Amino acid sequence: MNNTSDNIQPFKQEVKKTLKAQRQFYDTNATKSIAFRIDQLKKLKEILKKNESNLHKAIYEDLKKSEFDNLTTEILPIYSEIDYTIKNLKKWAKPKRVKTNLLNIPSKSYIISEPLGTSLIISAWNFPYNLAFIPLVGAIAAGNTSILKPSEMAPATSAIMAQLINDNFPSDYLNVIQGGIPETSALLKQRFDKIFFTGSPQVGKIINQASAPHLTDVTLELGGKNPAIFTQDCALNIGVKRMVASKFLNAGQVCIAPDYVLVQKSIKEKFLARVISEINKQNYSIENGNFVQLINDKNFDRVVSLIDSQKVFYGGNYIKDTRFIEPTILTDITIDDAVMQEEIFGPILPVIEYDTIDEAFAIIRKIDKPLSAYLFSNNKTIKKRFLNEISFGNGAINDCIMQFTNHHLPFGGVGNSGTGSYHGKFSFDCFSHQKAILSKSTWIEPNLKYYEHTDAKMKIIKKLF
Ligand code: NAD
Repeated sequence: MNNTSDNIQPFKQEVKKTLKAQRQFYDTNATKSIAFRIDQLKKLKEILKKNESNLHKAIYEDLKKSEFDNLTTEILPIYSEIDYTIKNLKKWAKPKRVKTNLLNIPSKSYIISEPLGTSLIISAWNFPYNLAFIPLVGAIAAGNTSILKPSEMAPATSAIMAQLINDNFPSDYLNVIQGGIPETSALLKQRFDKIFFTGSPQVGKIINQASAPHLTDVTLELGGKNPAIFTQDCALNIGVKRMVASKFLNAGQVCIAPDYVLVQKSIKEKFLARVISEINKQNYSIENGNFVQLINDKNFDRVVSLIDSQKVFYGGNYIKDTRFIEPTILTDITIDDAVMQEEIFGPILPVIEYDTIDEAFAIIRKIDKPLSAYLFSNNKTIKKRFLNEISFGNGAINDCIMQFTNHHLPFGGVGNSGTGSYHGKFSFDCFSHQKAILSKSTWIEPNLKYYEHTDAKMKIIKKLF
């Protein structure tokens, strides 16, 4: 699957061939029919349904993810996205009439959503099916052809996605190409009409650079350090319950998980006691099906290195052989600690104490714009200020991560956490170009714009503008 520099040449030729075939297929206009798109979406769902047990097996191999977590966080969201898209596709794809300005009357104006063409979807390993197939639903719905490049860090799920797509769809329409950096670099040398990338901000920059020579339309779904603020007057018990569930889902390997907590100092003791009580109640373990292993040794070592033993308030133990790190709370954390210098992407919760809300906001502003931010508060003024003063991609008040499940909301980052968005109609738009059309009638042509330029004409023109 992975090519070394010696055998990357044949791989490059294969990629070129596949992309050329996809372009030719796209040019037949077959993907533009709504019936075709709906058929492909139905087919995708059928294939996934038929292969659920193999999908479970593969994700267990990569992450030790349970069937329950696989269904709730990967498979069911994909089905729901497919169903919602099929239900609405005709409406979304229909040209939209808009008003015409006075200057152009009589004529009609409308917007056509046209597919961008050939798309490349590069995905991450932490929710391997969700992050590959949900963008793919958007690409299919909008009428594109697609090459999907799953993460090499989750080899079993990458292999099954390749098998399911490549055995069931013609490669000039949909194709999964597996591989790591050399393969992705080879793919990025080609001219696609759309690149949809999910991954780290560091690699996001490489994607942006690679797309520049072709001026390819790019969506970047990246990560960051997501804050969760707990104010003095928050509904503490339910707030902590929700935050803990979000933080330790997938062992913290979630791009929208709360990365660190900012807690008002007067409730800190109570807050910490609640967090421990919730962690104990959940009894996180791979055997219980509510925890997973770290994806590989490199990430395991990286996350372990962020545990400052002097600051462990709870947990802090790990088992190298099984890449297990227990839910860990670090306290007395400041913005200068190592754990605050990078996205954690693991089951470690640093807790920073603040006095005034301005102090909390100032800390968030010192770090790059996060993908998500969360506020646990019942204070109207603070809620308003949080929404008005803090920039982040998406978020929730009195909950974490659940905004991701609402396909009526665009999902994406801002600044360092990404550009563009998807889910539901936003996915359709993400893989479409909005073609603007003015269709003029021919029965009349006012003489205003033509020579000779008189004062009388100018008077009318000024009015029309
Ligand atoms: P990553 O950036 O290392 O890898 C993502 C993809 O890029 C993979 O398919 C990988 O093969 C490819 N890649 C890696 N290095 C490359 C290079 N030098 N050149 C070309 N391609 C390269 O990210 P990851 O470790 O898979 O995922 C973790 C990161 O992704 C975190 O920052 C997390 O927050 C983010 N993430 C974001 C979302 C989102 O929806 N916004 C979802 C999941 C993960």
